[in-house]
Amino acid sequence: MFKKEIQMKDFDLIIVGAGPGGSMAAKTAAEKGLKTIFFERSRKPGEKNSSGCGLGPRMFRDFPEMMNELTPDKCPSMRAGTASRNYFVNKDDIVAGYIMARPTESVSYEPAKSWITMNVYRSEFDPWIAKFATDAGAKLTVSTLIVDLLKDSGKVCGVIDENGEKYRAPLVIGADGVISTVAQKSGLRNKWAQNQVTLVPQYDFQAPSDRIDDIMGDETLGVWWGSNFPASYQVFFNDGFHQGLGNWMNWWDSNPLYYLNRVINLKYYQRLLKILDAKPRELQVHLLPWLDFPNNTHADGVILIGDAGGFPCPLEAEGIYPAMVTGKIAAEVASEVISSEDVSKSTLKKFDEKWQQTSIGQEFEAGFELWNIWKALPFSPKETMSWFVPMIMEILGGIFDWSQPHALRVRQIISHIRSYMPKATPFIMAYIFPLLTKVFEDDLDKLMDPKKIMKVLPKLLDMLPQKKKKKGV
Ligand SMILES: Cc1cc2nc3c(=O)[nH]c(=O)nc-3n(C[C@H](O)[C@H](O)[C@H](O)COP(=O)(O)OP(=O)(O)OC[C@H]3O[C@@H](n4cnc5c(N)ncnc54)[C@H](O)[C@@H]3O)c2cc1C
Repeated sequence: MFKKEIQMKDFDLIIVGAGPGGSMAAKTAAEKGLKTIFFERSRKPGEKNSSGCGLGPRMFRDFPEMMNELTPDKCPSMRAGTASRNYFVNKDDIVAGYIMARPTESVSYEPAKSWITMNVYRSEFDPWIAKFATDAGAKLTVSTLIVDLLKDSGKVCGVIDENGEKYRAPLVIGADGVISTVAQKSGLRNKWAQNQVTLVPQYDFQAPSDRIDDIMGDETLGVWWGSNFPASYQVFFNDGFHQGLGNWMNWWDSNPLYYLNRVINLKYYQRLLKILDAKPRELQVHLLPWLDFPNNTHADGVILIGDAGGFPCPLEAEGIYPAMVTGKIAAEVASEVISSEDVSKSTLKKFDEKWQQTSIGQEFEAGFELWNIWKALPFSPKETMSWFVPMIMEILGGIFDWSQPHALRVRQIISHIRSYMPKATPFIMAYIFPLLTKVFEDDLDKLMDPKKIMKVLPKLLDMLPQKKKKKGV
């Protein structure tokens, strides 16, 4: 029966979506000799995507043969950078301070010491990556919206486009992004829960490239940690930048643009716009999955990858790299199962087993704890950031005051920081402690060894200063 279906098929593998995930899957499948077709609803890959993004070092480490070919002549919007600036904005909408972050001494991947992100526009990046797939022999069909799955006796055996055209293959990869037709039609997911998907408005600003060079230097990223808005990201490209923010669907109590405009209207931000000579170019609104763990990734004859499968990073939703990794793995699994003629759900479990062994799998091991911290901190501006910002600034900046003797300032600062403890302690216990416990779960017995603690404790007590004798006594 299965053999008969195989003979009737037009393709070995169908991929819906030509984003980074779909293209990576198509490239890998074609290289493995599978007759592969991938569909894109837009006129070209990248046309309807989130206009720009940052590519992280893991992409260059894991896909060097491709990524080393990504040069400014192929992708003119590209801007690489070594620094990110974290602005802390207090409840009066004042930038209370900032931290400039560069790769630190503990960074172990050598190239990541010289840059932290490579920013590109998706209208350039997505066609560039799709070409690897077509060069490898995969067939790209654009301007084609897939509306349903083709089924034979209830089993998935292909896809149907909006004109009713049918395409057959024993396996379909859903690489069709956050609103995945493949996920819906296969019964894997009807819709996301409200706390699994974020709404992200963003402005795209145009700015002269030499102004960005002069003013921002090698700063390519900014995060505005707000007390009145969810953390807002800033990504610099060659001739412009994005300013956006997001939160889960169940969070918004006002129009999301109200919150984004609070960032844009900060005095500090307006000054930046002025000196950068920046002009708004486009306003975009996107959805982005943001989960603590991707469940329901496969069914009989179907695998979901990238955003369709819910793979963006649980801490800060980096999504291109997970889409490429899961795309590659899904195609490798496809090549194995198609030759063994078994595309059942239980066999496709291999997909989960394989991605869980990658860097993505490691990330999701602490997925709940990471997701939970993001929820409680940058995604809870009024509840948490409103006290977190002044507390951090007290720690980092309190000493830069010369209105009192410095010893007195130290006392004032410490006593002020203690006043935050009723809020900070429960936060640390509820969110930071579980993450640390998770991260160190394999070493807990070593770290908490009571014998070692008892050895160190007296030494620490010895180091405490003796109480000063009062003068003249
Ligand atoms: C505002 C914003 C900023 C982001 N910034 C970053 C960042 O800096 N770095 C990062 O790594 N990630 C970032 N992400 C996440 C990243 O964009 C996604 O995780 C990534 O694009 C997922 O890739 P994908 O291939 O799974 O899906 P997508 O890129 O969404 O591609 C899906 C493709 O399928 C097509 N399609 C959909 N439905 C159909 C259909 N029925 N038929 C045919 N074609 C279809 C779409 O047109 C699209 O081209 C950001 C996301 C947003 C929203």
